[in-house]
Parts: sequence; structure tokens; C-alpha cells
Amino acid sequence: MTAEDGSGSAEGALTVAACPVCSRLQDVERAYHKWGWDEVTLSFPDAVRHLEPMPAGVDAGQENGIGGETSGETLLRCPHCGTPYRYTWSSEYLANGSEDREELQRLAPAQARQDLPEGEYERLMSLAGLWLFHANGAVRRQAARSLLGHHLAAGDAAIVRPLLAAEDEEILRGALFLMRDLYREGREALDLAPLTGALETLQHHRDGEIAGAAQYLLSAAHAGTRR
Ligand SMILES: [Zn+2]
Repeated sequence: MTAEDGSGSAEGALTVAACPVCSRLQDVERAYHKWGWDEVTLSFPDAVRHLEPMPAGVDAGQENGIGGETSGETLLRCPHCGTPYRYTWSSEYLANGSEDREELQRLAPAQARQDLPEGEYERLMSLAGLWLFHANGAVRRQAARSLLGHHLAAGDAAIVRPLLAAEDEEILRGALFLMRDLYREGREALDLAPLTGALETLQHHRDGEIAGAAQYLLSAAHAGTRR
């Protein structure tokens, strides 16, 4: 905590629900634009413009060869509460009008750890512990995401089992969807074996999205053991 620093203490304990920027963003935001087809345009909320790039996280993007597709990603950070985001974009040239796709995803601090300012990771993680039982669902999701990301990055899958056994669907969503995303991206070498029992219960969850994510991870875990 930087109590002596006015701006630091002001942003000290702002949840994503109380933050003037993050409260106007969903966990995942998508935008789409096709030149000459304005009726199918999907735009980001205005709040996206207030996020700031993390200097070390800038990726200039890359040309992907013959198809004329370019893509890239940048890490962004909310200037008010410090929540990290990943912005990805791709642009593809097509004969009937090029297509631009953008996605903004709220991250666990562990996913942006190397690019966060000094001390910021510890600050965000100490708040995550407090906010797991917050009244607002978006805050609980971000807390669960933060804790899961932290323990998986430390190679500690068994510790996250209580998150996957939570009654609270928001905690489940935060933890489970991050785990699915990490597995899909191949960014973490995840050992899912300690979590198989929890995932087997969740694959029958009444919420279809939760059940689907659990099924995806179980099939990934089984494929892993056969390797
Ligand atoms: Zn914010």
C-alpha cells in the first residue's frame, strides 16, 4: 500500500464494480467491423478507451502471410483500480471487404505479472483474498480468477480445489473459465489430476456454460494422461 501517495491510496481498494471504467466492461468484450457492412458492426463500450497500455506488454502485431491477415495483442491496465486486461485484434483482407475483430479480456494478475508495476501484483492479490465473498458477482469472479491464476502459476493445482467446489456460481465461473482459457491457450502446463474429482461433479452442473467448461477440461485431462 502507498498511503503516502495520494493517487495510490485513492486507487487502493476499488473493486471492478465500483471502478468508473471496469464497472462498464464485461469480463470479455468483443468488437467486429466489416468494411462496407456497417449494419453488422459490433463496437466496444466507450470505457475501453480509458484503459492504458502496459509499456512492456506491447506487441506490435504480426503479418500472417498470404491471406493478408494481421493480428496482435497488447496488455492494458485500468488506471483507476489496476485491473489488467488483454486486448487482441486481427484484421483480415477479404475480396468483399476486410474484417476487423477485437477482443478485450479481463485477466488474473498472474497473466500480466511480468508487466505490472512494482508491488502491484501483491496489492491486487491481497485484495483478491478479501473480495472472494464480496456482495457483487463481478467482484467475486475477478477474485476467484485472481486466486486461481496465482496458484496455477505456482504449480499448486490442489490448493484451488475449494474454488471449484464453491456453491457460488460466480466463483465457479471466475475460476473454471480462466482454467479453460489457460488450457486452450497452452500458456500453462496444467496438471489437472488433483482436480478431476471436482470437475466430474461440475460436468453435471445446472448451468450449461459451467458444465461445458468442466467437460472440456476433463476431456483435456484424459487426453493428457494418454500422452
Ligand atoms: Zn478499473
